[in-house]
Amino acid sequence: MGERRQRSGRRSRDNAQIASERIAILFTEAERASRQGSDALSERYVSLARSIGMRYNVRLPARLKRRVCQKCGAFLVPGRNLRVRLREGKTIWTCLKCGSVSRKRTVQRPTTAGQSAREEGGREKKSGEPVSREAGEPVGKAGNR
Ligand SMILES: [Zn+2]
Repeated sequence: MGERRQRSGRRSRDNAQIASERIAILFTEAERASRQGSDALSERYVSLARSIGMRYNVRLPARLKRRVCQKCGAFLVPGRNLRVRLREGKTIWTCLKCGSVSRKRTVQRPTTAGQSAREEGGREKKSGEPVSREAGEPVGKAGNR
C-alpha cells in the first residue's frame, strides 16, 4: 500500500478522495447534531461539507445531496423538517424550514439496468410499497477510515 505519492498538483485524485471522505464525515456529524436537536450545528456541518466539495471540485453524492435543502441549506430529516409524500410515482419533498418543494421521480432501484422498460400494458399496480429507505440508514462501517 505504499503506492500513494504526493504530487504537487492540487487536483490529484488523492485530494478528491480525501475531500469526499471529509464530506461523508461531516454529514455523519450533521446527522448526529440534528438528532440531538441542534439544527444550527447540523447546518453548519452541511455548509462545511458543501464548501469542501466546491473547493476540491467534488460533487456531493446523490444520497447526501438529497439530505440538504437546495434552497436554504438545511439538513433534512424526514419527519422533522422534511415532509416526504409519494404521489403518482413521484416523491414530493417539502422543506419545512423554508417551504421549498421539489419533486423527484421515485427511485426504486438505483441500478442502471431496467429503467427503460416502461410499457407494462397500462397496468398499474399500486400495492403499498414498503418505503423504508427514508429514515436514512445509519452509517454501517463506522470503524472504517
Ligand atoms: Zn429549505
